[in-house]
Amino acid sequence: LSEEAQRALDEIEEKNVDFLRLQFTDILGTVKNVSIPAEQAEKAFTEGIYFDGSSIEGFVRIQESDMRLKPDPETFAILPWRNTDEHASARLICDVINTSTGEPFEGDPRYILKQALDRAEEMGFTVNAAPEPEFFLFEEDEDGRATTKTNDAGGYFDLAPKDLASDVRRDIIYGLEDMGFDIEASHHEVAQGQHEINFTYDDALTTADNVGTFRTVVRAIAAQHDLHATFMPKPIARINGSGMHTHISLFTEDGENAFHDDDDEFNLSESAKQFTAGILEHAPAITAITNPTVNSYKRLVPGYEAPVYVAWSDRNRSALIRKPAARVPAASRIEARFPDPSCNPYLAFAALIHAGLDGIEQGLECPDPVRENIYDFDEDKREEYGIETLPTNLGEAVDALEADEAIYSALGPHIGPKFVEAKKAEFQEYLVEVSQWELDQYLETF
Ligand code: GLU
Ligand code: MG
Ligand code: MG
Repeated sequence: LSEEAQRALDEIEEKNVDFLRLQFTDILGTVKNVSIPAEQAEKAFTEGIYFDGSSIEGFVRIQESDMRLKPDPETFAILPWRNTDEHASARLICDVINTSTGEPFEGDPRYILKQALDRAEEMGFTVNAAPEPEFFLFEEDEDGRATTKTNDAGGYFDLAPKDLASDVRRDIIYGLEDMGFDIEASHHEVAQGQHEINFTYDDALTTADNVGTFRTVVRAIAAQHDLHATFMPKPIARINGSGMHTHISLFTEDGENAFHDDDDEFNLSESAKQFTAGILEHAPAITAITNPTVNSYKRLVPGYEAPVYVAWSDRNRSALIRKPAARVPAASRIEARFPDPSCNPYLAFAALIHAGLDGIEQGLECPDPVRENIYDFDEDKREEYGIETLPTNLGEAVDALEADEAIYSALGPHIGPKFVEAKKAEFQEYLVEVSQWELDQYLETF
């Protein structure tokens, strides 16, 4: 047993853990659980736990359904909302192993991110990432179903005896801290009922694990307050949607920030600029992965602090990539503003990293930053600046993904085709639907 595994076993004993949730994510980014009694923990670490993968979204074909979960002992954490002195549950994030080959399973999104990180390592880099997940808190109806009524409507600036939203947010933060998160800041976002909680950056794999955990904790604790937390990108039309801006930097083997350059006007190194150029170059294809729902494209419209145009900036928030001001060299990074929190974080980070590394490998030239508000540009001006537009819907994005070999192949031979198939079907289903908007517009007019 490894040292971390032994430490997890000790904690299981000490904290009276009876159940372990073995977690992994499917292609669409949903966290799945297999629960095992704690007595099986040692076996889980040494041999792994077998499960039937045929019932998991896009995992395997029925005839080859046996998978093995290999828990990563470093991810051991007690679940704070199921914890008493006598009984506790804990989770472990797992790698998925193909039982017939004994190799990592190509359909495991965590493995796809590991491959991107291996590529970075071969080029001499480690990758750090930090997300800014935004979400809404909505009231539930009598049946416990989510509504789109915000719980702090009208209450945000009120001198109410109790600011409901900040109470929930505080409990969510306690829950996250109990699970080992280092919370940097939290605030009420622009829209009513919208929130953001930021946690410290980490290596990209840990951060992707953290995104899954974050979504689980936020939903679970909101539910304890009879609220529904949603990471749907644009739950309400005509107000800000929810993004998951992702900050990325590369570090060298000796721990230097490879994105920082003291002498550059923007404090960005050549590698940082090429990395940025790579993301700009592959942006339409990446969008299918970072913005993977029909609803994602309702957020990517002008006027709501979400990007629409393929450009970078050291100032404004209408650009796809922003260079945030860094107080110390170690903090130099770029912020990709297009991802939204409905994405699978493993696949989204993998796509961004592959695109950036491709930019470095090819020595792509970074265009000049755009300092004006691009929302205000007309088509002529955009053409003059050479600024492209992001795909306007999921169908276009998936077409762009299929056409971009570098990004499509980053998903691997299993996930690539399954992802495209699932997303095309989702888009087709949407296209044949008749929406409330259409009924409101046409039903009585014609
Ligand atoms: N909610 C905005 C978005 O959709 C971002 C607001 C911000 O800059 O934090 O990306
Ligand atoms: Mg924000
Ligand atoms: Mg941001």
